[in-house]
Amino acid sequence: MRAVLLPGDRQARIVEMDRPTAGPGQVVVEIKAAGLCGSDIHMIYRTPAERRNDEIMKGLTINTSIVGSHEPAGVVAEVGEGVTHLRVGDRVAVAHLSGCGHCLSCRRGWDIDCDNKQTYGYDRHGAMADYMLAEAKDCAIIPDAVSFTEGAFYACGAGTGYWALRRGNLGANETVAVVGLGPVGVAAAYFAAQAGARVIGIDPVAERREFAAKNGAHFTFDPTAGDVTAAVKAVNGGRGADLVVEASGSSAGRSSALDVARTWGRVVCVGFGDPATTLDVGAQIIEKQLTVIGAWVYSTPDLQEMLYDVADRGLSVQPLILHEYGIEDAEDAWRSFDAGSLGKSMVVWP
Ligand SMILES: [Zn+2]
Ligand SMILES: [Zn+2]
Repeated sequence: MRAVLLPGDRQARIVEMDRPTAGPGQVVVEIKAAGLCGSDIHMIYRTPAERRNDEIMKGLTINTSIVGSHEPAGVVAEVGEGVTHLRVGDRVAVAHLSGCGHCLSCRRGWDIDCDNKQTYGYDRHGAMADYMLAEAKDCAIIPDAVSFTEGAFYACGAGTGYWALRRGNLGANETVAVVGLGPVGVAAAYFAAQAGARVIGIDPVAERREFAAKNGAHFTFDPTAGDVTAAVKAVNGGRGADLVVEASGSSAGRSSALDVARTWGRVVCVGFGDPATTLDVGAQIIEKQLTVIGAWVYSTPDLQEMLYDVADRGLSVQPLILHEYGIEDAEDAWRSFDAGSLGKSMVVWP
């Protein structure tokens, strides 16, 4: 089978590998869509030689000899011994964090918090191949109303955007500001608008603001072109945003996210990026009575629940997926994504 490796130094390498076979508790997924995520760019694609095969964050190790992409969706092609809840032909997305299955975090569904987790696309083979080996417990059924590309997007980017709003307890009639309008931020803006919120998108890149405006943001602001805090306050009667989703991962974005929140507001941080950010905790958090929340992706049961939810409510993130490539064009896909292409990019199979 064909597979794409991301050895670092801005390379994508298409190689031939053996098709995996399913062991006990496992399935082989015939991949239909494999997403490109910003985390891959920062942590793998651009990784210089000295950081390869290194632990890059808590329990997350990069092995650049494994197949890339942690946004898998496809059809179950083979079922291993002891798998009772999946059958050949089932449409599935795979939650990209695979915990030990036994510790307290795993038993709560929070595989991402497991001390012994593996991550598809980082330290075990990911989705950018004709077939992928997955633990059956990591699979979520994709309802018929949801496409494979959407299913793959929910496996990380769109799922992170959706979960950020749940984590922030988005309420009716609230004003939501989204800082950073990449794929995760635009997904958060879309879901917030669908939930009835008034949505403000903040990003220095004009095309990203225009794209967010087409996909849910009612107001967009350029943080480099004036006082963005004043602009957000003006939208919400001088108060600022009730809920802020920080999806930029930049120090400036993080600081801005705290500033545009109203007194007693909530700020959900999902964006990775700058390693350290200097904040005035007194003025920016304490005096504003803020609740600041870290949200790292989602739990595996949440992936299934959100797939059922978006299918039931007729929501679609398909308009956010602007670029689809065949696996033979994977090098182009990564290069364009690295260069800052708009919207979500996917490698797809017919
Ligand atoms: Zn565990
Ligand atoms: Zn991701």
